Amino acid sequence: MKICGACEKELPKESFSGKQWKVRRSMRRCKDCVAAGNELVLFTEGRERSVDDECPICSRLLPLKRGESTLYSCCMKTVCNGCSLEAYKRGMDDHCPFCRTHQLERGDDEARLEMIQNRVKANDPVAMHDLGLKYRDGSLGLGKDLPRAVELFERAAEYGSNAAAYELGCTFNERTGNEGIGKDMSRAVKHFELAAKQGHHGARHNLGVYELESGNLGLALKHWMISAKLGDEKSLANMKSMYMAGLASKADYAEALRGYHEAIIEMSSPERDEAKVRRMHLKSLGLWS
Ligand SMILES: [Zn+2]
Ligand SMILES: [Zn+2]
Ligand SMILES: [Zn+2]
Repeated sequence: MKICGACEKELPKESFSGKQWKVRRSMRRCKDCVAAGNELVLFTEGRERSVDDECPICSRLLPLKRGESTLYSCCMKTVCNGCSLEAYKRGMDDHCPFCRTHQLERGDDEARLEMIQNRVKANDPVAMHDLGLKYRDGSLGLGKDLPRAVELFERAAEYGSNAAAYELGCTFNERTGNEGIGKDMSRAVKHFELAAKQGHHGARHNLGVYELESGNLGLALKHWMISAKLGDEKSLANMKSMYMAGLASKADYAEALRGYHEAIIEMSSPERDEAKVRRMHLKSLGLWS
């Protein structure tokens, strides 16, 4: 018995063609689903970003670019720069704009680590993921400890963090994975699939790269179409390259481009635009790293 990746029923061997029986679960379809043209769950889920990706103050989807939002260790909430700027204007510049906890001084690693650990104790998956990153990088005074990082990512993923599932995929990825932990592409793909089904753009993008490298251009394009529509810049660039090379249709590229722009508009607001201009100005003065 094996599970069909489209109807998700557990079926005997005779329900699958010989070829389908051998492919991995997420890509496997029973004879009935093939005949009916039923889509794999991998492609029907994760077309929208998770509600966890919203700024808790303005409720808009968070920008995907790093530096356009801040993770606050006090409450483990990621607040967009637009809302941080509004809080700053109201004179709350040394408090968390969400929970209003007084902010720690830069470099107060010990207190910051304690804050994160407290949130881990409260079973906060964002904190588990963040602490995992600190162990992976050996920051906040912690020694580098990859097995401990993986353990934390796994726990966070169990608690529903798609970012942690993505991180696990990256950790085991043969191309980009970390030294010191066994690289295992099938494990990486499994984690990327889990994250992609929860709307993670980077995981979806990487699945596209994996399929392209495995010689499955059609599947790669399907993944990149979804991630481009989530606002993933690299996926849109890949769709463009494929179109320029004559490997994707003009209609596909146009659809990806349209979807990408809609995602960008969804992530914009006048407050965020103002914060961006301000940040660029501060950067030019060397006051923002
Ligand atoms: Zn089926
Ligand atoms: Zn916001
Ligand atoms: Zn806070």
